[in-house]
Amino acid sequence: MNEPLKIKGVVVNAAQWGDNDKMLTVLTREKGVISIAAKGVKSLKNKNSQAVSPLCYSDFVLNDKGDAYSLVSADLIESFYALREDVMALAYGVYFAQLAAFSVGRNNLADDEMRLLLNSLYMLTKSKERMEVIKCAFELKLCEYAGFAPYLDSCMCGEEGVYFDVSTGEMVCALHRGEHSKKISPAARSVFEYVQNADLKETLTFTIDNSVAEEVSLLAEEFLKHQLGRLPKGLDYIKKLKI
Ligand SMILES: [Zn+2]
Repeated sequence: MNEPLKIKGVVVNAAQWGDNDKMLTVLTREKGVISIAAKGVKSLKNKNSQAVSPLCYSDFVLNDKGDAYSLVSADLIESFYALREDVMALAYGVYFAQLAAFSVGRNNLADDEMRLLLNSLYMLTKSKERMEVIKCAFELKLCEYAGFAPYLDSCMCGEEGVYFDVSTGEMVCALHRGEHSKKISPAARSVFEYVQNADLKETLTFTIDNSVAEEVSLLAEEFLKHQLGRLPKGLDYIKKLKI
């Protein structure tokens, strides 16, 4: 039997599994996304039940079973409790965690992505009126950490880029736009540039109008969809809540 693994992570999903058990999807710095079979945690009397809820950042002790880990114990570090009191904030938090997990995958280091996720969840608890701004900042910074930051110089012909191509991440002029090129306003373009040059703290605390944040978010979502192949279900849920 291997030594138990001690690892910190954020619970991305806790799926029902049997009568009393859950299958956890957890994002970690050292191993990217891992699956954990957590027996007995559906019972509120179980000592681990609190620390395995979605978005909890916890200290896990695990047995390695080859294809999945099994839970020995989980101690809560941070529950981001304020998110649980607001259905919209919770939806944003879940989407952030799902998107980070999509982008990282299994068996990958996720140092930057974990820092981004933890700081973004914290900012969501502090400033719920800025959720849309935090969302666009999260999405753009995630593109950068995942290695596909948009290319923000002018169009290849030298003309100013007034379209953002969501398949290539390039700014293009009206003449060189393609089927995936979307009009981008100067304000939205300056957000792309700001985020790329700013550190994480500056990125998560900057101020822009919600309408600009929404424009940036729509472009970032489409770009992420092209890069990752799909977007998490949590995004559909946010859009439903907004109607
Ligand atoms: Zn051009």
